[in-house]
Amino acid sequence: MAMCEQGYLCQVCGQDVETISQSDLYLRYVIGEVDPEVLHTTPERHLRCNPVLAQFIDHPQFDPPIVEGPFDRRGLDRDFADRRAAWVTRGFARLVELEQLGGEIDVTTYPLPEVLQRYR
Ligand SMILES: [Zn+2]
Repeated sequence: MAMCEQGYLCQVCGQDVETISQSDLYLRYVIGEVDPEVLHTTPERHLRCNPVLAQFIDHPQFDPPIVEGPFDRRGLDRDFADRRAAWVTRGFARLVELEQLGGEIDVTTYPLPEVLQRYR
């Protein structure tokens, strides 16, 4: 996996982002919120260091942070929050899957099918 070799550092806490399933950048990439063209020039962050996004991950392998204030998912429109959680959680599950594949597939095929379709 390219990101391991290059040892990307988190823009927020300065620590290594060791695995793809800890990566805010790659989560946003697989759900189509980071363009492929800017993937390698966008700063890396840990998911835990971007709680506004990470709070939407409902996955046994992730302990979601609580966000206080206007971005707290509990204070958002329920419908929006549920859809956001379903989508972001699928993205996280995709990262877990990619981690198990161990960099055997091309980075351009990382995103979820709906996102790939949009890029075609
Ligand atoms: Zn961090």
